[in-house]
Amino acid sequence: MQHDMIYMDNNATTRTDPRVVEAMLPWFTEKYGNAHSRNHAFGWEAEEAVETARASVAKAIGAEAREIIFTSGATESNNLAIKGVAEFLADKGNHLITSTIEHKCVSDSMKALERSGRQVTFIGVDREGRIDLAALEAAITDKTILISIMAANNEIGTVQDLAAIGKLCKSRGVLFHTDAAQLVGKQPIDVEALGIDLLSMSAHKIYGPKGVGALYIRRAKPRVRLVAQIDGGGQERGLRSGTLNVTGIVGFGKALEIAVAEMPNERARLRSLRDRFLTRIRERLDHIHLNGSLENRIEGNLNISFAFVEGESLLMSLKEVAVSSGSACTSSTLEPSHVMRAIGVGEELAHTSIRFGIGRFNTEAEVDRVVDMLADKVSRLREMSPLYEMVKDGVDLQSVKWSPH
Ligand SMILES: *Cc1c(COP(=O)(O)O)cnc(C)c1O
Repeated sequence: MQHDMIYMDNNATTRTDPRVVEAMLPWFTEKYGNAHSRNHAFGWEAEEAVETARASVAKAIGAEAREIIFTSGATESNNLAIKGVAEFLADKGNHLITSTIEHKCVSDSMKALERSGRQVTFIGVDREGRIDLAALEAAITDKTILISIMAANNEIGTVQDLAAIGKLCKSRGVLFHTDAAQLVGKQPIDVEALGIDLLSMSAHKIYGPKGVGALYIRRAKPRVRLVAQIDGGGQERGLRSGTLNVTGIVGFGKALEIAVAEMPNERARLRSLRDRFLTRIRERLDHIHLNGSLENRIEGNLNISFAFVEGESLLMSLKEVAVSSGSACTSSTLEPSHVMRAIGVGEELAHTSIRFGIGRFNTEAEVDRVVDMLADKVSRLREMSPLYEMVKDGVDLQSVKWSPH
């Protein structure tokens, strides 16, 4: 592994915080009980640790401990929330609503439901990636049972108006699920204040371990019920069977405690790093486009398109920096991402977009190094671009009539 590489892909995953690892270690080798073992102290201490973590997770989102179900991550939580509610409320309605910019585990859960006969409406977003609230309201019918809209987008960082969506859902008697994998632990979120009925989380996006997450399921006003998607030993009140990942859960709890405690300072620090990045890159390069919203955005995310360079060449030339082009999940294909398409970024610019995920362990010096490298590489690539030459010479590309070849 090249340790001189700069990791700036914190929307894909994060380094586990050493304080989290330290909290987890005893639960591998000394306190290795099954939290479900009722007959001895190994089981009891494991159960106690799980309940402590459950309380931390609940507190972080303004919920009660018994409203939290531990899962293997946000993918599983999203599947359970969407498919579980659709199955439980099958007699009440067959219509669900989501957005066009969701993570694949939400949109593909919705598509699976479509294949089994449900109707799904995909609501579009504006240029900043925010939900069209009027379209959302207009899409609700008396058969609508669930609206699933992500809290913050993983590609462009856009934060939705959750309060407005929650209010709309409440007034129409529709359950509101949000995939908050990118928001929890980064910005305050309160399920009561925002009228959220189900909320998905993941530990590894917030400096916790991979393979653990949770689903919040409201217990009152209204009491949300759903059908388990994994059957077995009946753990987690029968909603998620399987031996609890005690070490992972302990790590998740610790990660959230740290994130919440450090949130105000960390938000300010990330914002200043992000602003420094943007200001400096704009000083060095023209024709760059920030994708998404500057205002309604998680602080660490920057998604920038560099006109007049070839996306693949740019990524190749930036091999000392770990970043993503488009979405991590679809980066093996050359299709522009569904999010870029949804916010109306043209094919050309979408191909040159890079996501910089600035996180807890990034420094000002790293930001400066990345900006230097980036400015250097983009300028060099543009030297080879005839289009960029023409623009520099004042040619309006829109007015050029290209001859067919
Ligand atoms: C990472 C991510 C997921 C998937 O979470 P896992 O815990 O890796 O399954 C889902 N939604 C969003 C918005 C994400 O960023």
